[in-house]
Amino acid sequence: MAYQTINPYTNKVEKTFENTSDEQLEKTIATAHELYKDWRFNDKLEERKNVILNLAKNLREHKTEYAAIMTKDMGKLIGEAEGEVELCASFCDYYVAHVDQFLQPEVIATTSGRAKVLKQSLGVLVAVEPWNFPFYQIARVFIPNFLLGNPMILKDASNCPASAQAFADAVKEAGAPEGSLTNLFLSYDQVNAAIADKRIVGVCLTGSERGGATVAKEAGANLKKSTMELGGNDAFIILDDADWDLVEKVAPAARLYNAGQVCTSSKRFIVLSKDYDRFLKILQDAFSKVKMGDPLDRTTTLAPLSSKKAKEKLQSQVDLAVENGAKVYYGNQPVDDLDGQFFMPTILTDIAPDNPIFDTEMFGPVASVYKVDTEEEAIALANNSSYGLGNTIFSSDRDHAERVAAQIETGMTWINSGYASLPELPFGGVKNSGYGRELSSYGIEEFMGKHLIYEVRQ
Ligand code: NAP
Repeated sequence: MAYQTINPYTNKVEKTFENTSDEQLEKTIATAHELYKDWRFNDKLEERKNVILNLAKNLREHKTEYAAIMTKDMGKLIGEAEGEVELCASFCDYYVAHVDQFLQPEVIATTSGRAKVLKQSLGVLVAVEPWNFPFYQIARVFIPNFLLGNPMILKDASNCPASAQAFADAVKEAGAPEGSLTNLFLSYDQVNAAIADKRIVGVCLTGSERGGATVAKEAGANLKKSTMELGGNDAFIILDDADWDLVEKVAPAARLYNAGQVCTSSKRFIVLSKDYDRFLKILQDAFSKVKMGDPLDRTTTLAPLSSKKAKEKLQSQVDLAVENGAKVYYGNQPVDDLDGQFFMPTILTDIAPDNPIFDTEMFGPVASVYKVDTEEEAIALANNSSYGLGNTIFSSDRDHAERVAAQIETGMTWINSGYASLPELPFGGVKNSGYGRELSSYGIEEFMGKHLIYEVRQ
């Protein structure tokens, strides 16, 4: 497997990274394991807090530099990349402010004696992360686990190696001891070997169902805990009492942000029949105004897709949808005037439940719009999916929106906004969107030892 930065705007190979040898992997696991032992028995939480505060400072000071590395790796707009770096810095602030509280022993009420649960580190983790938010995905798992005392070995996506290395270097510059976060350029076999190693206690993965299922199987076979943050086919439901000014403001970006390559992008828009034409026009109007171009140019509003392979896959999915009866309401034209991996924003309608694309995630600027007659139908359609990551509900009546939200089989629901990710909000899905949570107090608990100390009353 080649770890390469191939700039999706210029198609140029900017940098190739050497694969990690088995010896390097062994040395990394040994170093990380020693570090775990040191932290486990000597605490050193205050030192780790200082490292994370330094990391936040470094991220903020070098925001644009880091953002440009991500843009060259996978094509995202420079402004969006800068926002991502800032978000990572906010994770640092949040976890440093709350870690003492999260690690407080919990006293258990029992009349039989005295009981409490200690919150402890478990050991070295493997993190397998994707390319769509190169810094954010690493930060989500690294920051809480570092503070808890779990060192991490990172296997990042093969198409964003420069970003992964830059993040790991930033952690080192912040003063983290060797072994805290080691970015390796591993093959799938080496990932499996690491998971099987007795010094590794768990694996967290963000990625596709395919990658998730393979890694989860390996973790299961070795009795290692895993968390899986997988894909989504999120519904965007517009109820009868929606505020349409807000819908118009939010809906296009909910699909097009990060060139539509977000697990929680709104992918299925579910609209009442009476509002259907109005909604299609709103989306078309916004989609037709995007400016494709150099993602480093701040006037560009739609970035290229992350790679040639990503573009080919999306095109084949749209073709499959159309072959099976979907209609192209807007878009699906080649982008001939640019060399990069651009995909024209596209609106599909008339996707029947037996269309193979009905239950498939499309990772790019393609919106599927569905027409329903009732709210019950909208809920049933939203739930008719193997995924259950997030969804959005528009209503100007909060109680109404919350009643509908409670009926959606999903991990997260946003009311009157597109998706959001903040340090204090738990992130994760149900069904094939995976299991486990990242961020918030839930995130730091995933790989936490919960150690009961009990003394029976004599
Ligand atoms: P992917 O192919 O599964 O890749 C994700 C990571 O897993 C990469 O580092 C990849 O390495 C690695 N990988 C894949 N198969 C593996 C295997 N058998 N053994 C070891 N490592 C393996 O996912 P993707 O298509 O690039 O990423 C996009 C997907 O991620 C979308 O479905 C998106 O919805 C999902 N996602 C979910 C969340 C969430 O929080 N739920 C957030 C972001 C993205 P290579 O690059 O070397 O193949």
